[in-house]
Amino acid sequence: DLPLLSVRNLRVEFPRRRGTLVALDDVSFDIARGEVLGVVGESGAGKSLTGAAIIGLLEPPGRIAGGDILLDGEAIHALRGEAMRRLRGRRIAMIFQDPLTSLNPLYTVGEQLVETMLTHLDLTPAAARERALALLDEVGIPAPAQRIDHYPHQFSGGMRQRVVIALALCAEPELIIADEPTTALDVSVQAQIIALLRRLCRQHRTAVMLITHDMGVIAETADRVAVMYAGRVVEIGPVAEVVRAPAHPYTRGLMGAIPVLGAEVERLVQIDGAMPRLDAIPSGCAFHPRCTEASARCRVERPELLPAGATRAACWLYAPARENTDGGPQ
Ligand code: SF4
Ligand code: MG
Repeated sequence: DLPLLSVRNLRVEFPRRRGTLVALDDVSFDIARGEVLGVVGESGAGKSLTGAAIIGLLEPPGRIAGGDILLDGEAIHALRGEAMRRLRGRRIAMIFQDPLTSLNPLYTVGEQLVETMLTHLDLTPAAARERALALLDEVGIPAPAQRIDHYPHQFSGGMRQRVVIALALCAEPELIIADEPTTALDVSVQAQIIALLRRLCRQHRTAVMLITHDMGVIAETADRVAVMYAGRVVEIGPVAEVVRAPAHPYTRGLMGAIPVLGAEVERLVQIDGAMPRLDAIPSGCAFHPRCTEASARCRVERPELLPAGATRAACWLYAPARENTDGGPQ
């Protein structure tokens, strides 16, 4: 079966007067129809940039310098202008951290839902309004018949993000890219919004690329997870396996940031240090200055994704034994 989305060896560069910054390097992953792929990592790992590259919203001078992005087998990374605008909203929708990014303050939520549907679907205005009411109800907006004519500022942060979810779903996209969709919300509302997004996307068979720095959100929501560090995927696998037995030392560190229930569970290590800047990515394995397991080889040679139990990890700890003894520079 063809994956819905296939990202292959994606490279994103920012040309500068002196030298070029490589912001994403050799990023590859698939998302199946209806699947939730969590993309996790600290700020600066390249998560949002990956989402922006897929949906054609890289900020200049950022550009795709290599690789392929295939939607249902069709190359979309070279689409420009009108073709990319048609794809956005219709086949791939986006949810941002701040709901006000997605909503126009000058129009009622009903006008925005109807307008989006009339742009992308073959509906009459009356049918679109009917569908808008049904969607507002589905995302848990109380009294949709009144609320549909309200402006974005008349909603609370959590209600606004529900409206944004309705807006993302209204043209029945195949994929929603949700970038930190709950980070700006009260903690008490975050879990509800994540549960809503997961439930609706399962019902509508919409795939989700869920971008977050929060491994806890991933553990509750995703089917598979891709862990990013310094512009690369460093671990990818089924979420249950990654949570049960994280292979990459960086993933283990991220897991340490999840509150652990039950005193008998051993507390995992936290990661010291910070994500490197793009103009100062360390040699070899970019994580080596922060890694407690780093060897001489790690400082020189960059590891590719290798089988690591039930996941794949870009880490020399998982190199086959033979390669480990005669391949390295140590
Ligand atoms: Fe640590 Fe080396 Fe693995 Fe990088 S390759 S994560 S430095 S052990
Ligand atoms: Mg981001």
